Amino acid sequence: MGLVIYVDGEFLPKEKAVVSVFDHGLLYGDGIFEGIRAYHNRVFKLKEHIDRLYDSAKVILLEIPMTREEMTEVVLETMRKNGLREGYIRLVVTRGVGDLGLDPKKCPRASVICIGASIQLYPEEFYERGLDIVTVPTRRNLAEAVNPRIKSLNYLNNVMAKIEASLAGTIEAVMLNAEGYVAEATGDNIFIVKNGVLITPPPYVGILEGITRNTVMELARARGIPVVETLFTRYDIYTADECFLTGTAAEVIPVVKVDARAIGDGQPGEMTRTLIADFRELTKTDGPLIFPD
Ligand code: PMP
Repeated sequence: MGLVIYVDGEFLPKEKAVVSVFDHGLLYGDGIFEGIRAYHNRVFKLKEHIDRLYDSAKVILLEIPMTREEMTEVVLETMRKNGLREGYIRLVVTRGVGDLGLDPKKCPRASVICIGASIQLYPEEFYERGLDIVTVPTRRNLAEAVNPRIKSLNYLNNVMAKIEASLAGTIEAVMLNAEGYVAEATGDNIFIVKNGVLITPPPYVGILEGITRNTVMELARARGIPVVETLFTRYDIYTADECFLTGTAAEVIPVVKVDARAIGDGQPGEMTRTLIADFRELTKTDGPLIFPD
């Protein structure tokens, strides 16, 4: 774990880094966050994460009390203060302290928290062998409700899906939207490969528009692989040649079984392996330096 945590302008030791019980992030899930990775002394896709944070803030009418440049510096300084050249960064902005009512007008100032930590990946064997996952009963919430494109502190929907996956004896869930179209996993986006085409659901199905997702689509296009964002169903997953998940924490991870159906030949696919390699290569050069080289 990181040694010092940024809370509203100060770097505090872990034990002192606390929020009020009247913080609306706690009381109502009223806030937003980002999960960011650093590799090789660089914060990967930092601009994209900062932009998504400010987009989420805009949609929920949350005023972040600093500029994007200042927020970028908060992230880099958190890593420096903890001597971290790689790891996982959690950036949280809550509506701040208010009263027990839910009215955000009673919260005069948003709170900003940044935690730099080391990361525990899925065990390496899953990258070699691939994941065995299931679809779950809990549906991804409607884009017309709290739009999943907002990276909000409301993750109960995804927590329920994670519990259901666990009850089914697996470590990850595929969530469908209310109409039965494939949406995403609990903290990752989903891709399938069919006849050489890379396919992923469009943002309007009700997903977080993942930064790893967008990166993988760019990497595929750079190789001349056709990429299609379209609605698809469980049938399309079962009959796909390959399947994988993408996310900041998971990176690119193969899926070899969904609802007891082997995907393709039941081994991580060739396109998946290629994109994992391309992704790992990109992490060496993308993003601002943490410490001067
Ligand atoms: N979907 C959900 C629900 C997530 O929480 C995440 C992880 N933040 C993702 C997808 C993947 O997004 P990213 O690649 O930006 O980490």
